[in-house]
Amino acid sequence: MPSSLRLLLISTPVGPLGSGLGGGVELTLINVVQGLRARGHQVTVLAPEGSQLGTVPIVQIPGQLQPTAHTQGRNTPITIPDNSVLGNMWRYAQRQQDQFDVIVNFAYDWLPFYLTEFFCTPVAHFVTMGSLSDAMDGAIDQVAQDYPNRLGAYTRTQAETFGVADAFAILSSAIDLDLYDFCASPGNALAWLGRISPEKGLEDALEAAAMAQAPLKILGKLEDADYWHRLCDRFPGAADCYLGFLPTHELQQVLRQCRALVMTPRWVEAFGNVAIEALACGVPVIAYARGGPAEIVQSGKTGWLVPPDDVQGLVDAIAAIDRLDRRACRLQAETDYSLEALAIRFEQWFYTILSTR
Ligand code: UDP
Repeated sequence: MPSSLRLLLISTPVGPLGSGLGGGVELTLINVVQGLRARGHQVTVLAPEGSQLGTVPIVQIPGQLQPTAHTQGRNTPITIPDNSVLGNMWRYAQRQQDQFDVIVNFAYDWLPFYLTEFFCTPVAHFVTMGSLSDAMDGAIDQVAQDYPNRLGAYTRTQAETFGVADAFAILSSAIDLDLYDFCASPGNALAWLGRISPEKGLEDALEAAAMAQAPLKILGKLEDADYWHRLCDRFPGAADCYLGFLPTHELQQVLRQCRALVMTPRWVEAFGNVAIEALACGVPVIAYARGGPAEIVQSGKTGWLVPPDDVQGLVDAIAAIDRLDRRACRLQAETDYSLEALAIRFEQWFYTILSTR
């Protein structure tokens, strides 16, 4: 088995890297690339035109973007637009496949799963959300049946939303600690980070902050403008709390000054990269005990887990923030979420796939 693998990583087709449209998968992809390159692997990234990935070169692929899966219903038919960037990326992959040992799919889309059997080079799928559609579940089931070991997920809870939980390698996520500064003495504000979209439950954070009389700083991609306008009608101060979608460097400057991060997902959050970004700054995480955050937060030590949808529970947790040690938060990020550990997990996954072909 070669010690240096030639890897083709294919990004999400819902937006260019750096746009925020892809949510946490954008950060995960950057971290996986950095970690694998540091371990000596040759990594090529395919991504929609307009993508940016620091100093890492990208093969930019033109074409129309895909709709995001979480905005579609369970039974919505598969949509592939004319001149689809998803189709174009996978055509490139098909033509270049003999240059690579493993192709890694980061798209939560039906097509790459369907195409698995038509490739000679093994295709591994990192699934970035829980179960959302019957057609995707079917495509994932098919890969699980035909190709053991080809599926990866962030967390056990996420994998369990599919009927084939045992088929997944659990790969977690990581953080580049050098990009996040520890802050021992924060100001008064709480933080809420993420795509502004109904499944993220921002209204509960606004309500809890108002009840606790704590200022709230909201950072993230404005994905669903109608939803945001409804929130601004209901919470007249919301617009003043919104600081926009910030790049990582600016995001951490705001985040690290906050007393806690509040996470209020309505869905089974696959992971929640914002949780480990907060921990890296020494910021405790108050989260509903649902999905990824429930596997990340050490309740009573690096945050508080609150029963899902319990706003009063959030308020009680806000009152108990000072019982948490911010250094323990940073330490958890260093111990559990290093880039090297993530890269080793991905590498092991690839070697398992190659050894069982
Ligand atoms: N984010 C950002 N700038 C902001 C707010 C958020 O870059 O102003 C990024 C954040 O770093 C994280 C992503 O948005 O990587 C949200 O990912 P998460 O895994 O928390 O949720 P997802 O969007 O995947 O459901």
